[in-house]
Amino acid sequence: MLRLFSIFILFTGLVFADGFDFTLIKKGQQDDNNTLFIVGGIQGDEPGGFMAASLLSTHYDIKKGSVWIVPNFNFYSIIKSNRGPNGDMNRKFAKLSNNDPDFHSIDRMKKIIKEKNIKMIVNLHDGSGFYRKKYVDKQHRPSKWGQATIIDQAKVKGIAYGNLQEIAKKVDKHINKNLLKKEHIFHTKNTKTHLKKTYEEKEMSKTLTYYAIGKGKAAFGNESSKSLPVHERVYYKLLALEKFMDIMGIEYTRKFKLNARELKDVIDNDIYISFNNKKIFIPLSRIRSHITYFPVEKGAKISFKPSSPVMTVIEEKGKYIVYYGNRRLTTLVPQYLEYDKFDGHLKVNVDGKVKNVTLGSLVKVKKYFNVQVDKRVRVNVIGYVNKKHKNESGLNIRKKYIFKRYSIDKDGKRFRVEVYDRKVKNKFLGMFLVEFGA
Ligand SMILES: [Zn+2]
Repeated sequence: MLRLFSIFILFTGLVFADGFDFTLIKKGQQDDNNTLFIVGGIQGDEPGGFMAASLLSTHYDIKKGSVWIVPNFNFYSIIKSNRGPNGDMNRKFAKLSNNDPDFHSIDRMKKIIKEKNIKMIVNLHDGSGFYRKKYVDKQHRPSKWGQATIIDQAKVKGIAYGNLQEIAKKVDKHINKNLLKKEHIFHTKNTKTHLKKTYEEKEMSKTLTYYAIGKGKAAFGNESSKSLPVHERVYYKLLALEKFMDIMGIEYTRKFKLNARELKDVIDNDIYISFNNKKIFIPLSRIRSHITYFPVEKGAKISFKPSSPVMTVIEEKGKYIVYYGNRRLTTLVPQYLEYDKFDGHLKVNVDGKVKNVTLGSLVKVKKYFNVQVDKRVRVNVIGYVNKKHKNESGLNIRKKYIFKRYSIDKDGKRFRVEVYDRKVKNKFLGMFLVEFGA
């Protein structure tokens, strides 16, 4: 059954952005021998892990020290929202056949783990239920994984940060001062992997963290509960990661307040994608499920720049799907056009004030806008009701003159203003967006 997925994608999909290779993001000082390495997305059905790693890469600045992040280790399984279409990647670190589809990824990851500058590794997971040292009920018991800092053993002698248990307890303590609910309390779970007696211990010996320990690196697992909404899982992960950074003396700033409400807003709404060397810019907050007549260059590979490392675009059956982690955000139904370059700006009268507008920008409008006539271009406001004009420059356009269903967002606020070469029919130059409202 799992195999079907890979066959499916082979026949119907074309994959962009270097296939599904994972991204290694290096933040902070270069060549710092006290580097923290964070791994997210080892299992694609654990969004808390890859969203936290992704946010750390996009919404934090490292002021002192060094942090390396792989937010999308098993990117293919993230898109498929599947634990591991080619088997569980976190059981492939002991022995692995070089015919295994994940062989290249595992090999690349092992090389990174061995880098001399890395002193601590945190592997991010979402686990079931709530880990408790003693049985409470079915959801709260020793065999559960959620809300726990995982160590393979209490201590590793002779390595930096080898006092794993002490560090794990400090992290738990920090999290537990900031609980959203008492039930979410964190504990340290020691899998005692080196004993390799029970089934669980044997399984754990094939994991990333145990491999890392063998290479002399302090390694931790972090599990937030699958019972929590994703933004709450991310909340606990960021608390943990901030404490790990503190312990290593790494200093950072964050672009939002760390509370559940703001985090949800950042995850859902602070997302964008641009195409065609930024001549098309699309905010993805509240995006419609389909955008039709999306201009794609004839005969060329679609090029895009996502705001998040867990975002990508995949062609399926002639349409382009924007994925954000497990979520399918929108489907772009293409219209294939000749492209041409356009640098510089257009003059646009916005509520009585003339502004210079570059393609790929978003223009906020209160009442009306009017793209000033420019002999180089023809303007097409998508959804403009009056179709008698071939060129919609020089017109005062108000929100009520545009059909709401043509907005790119579900709220009917953002509209496309497409710009074409004046002389050559359907030669596309780029677009900007107008956003009506405050
Ligand atoms: Zn996991």
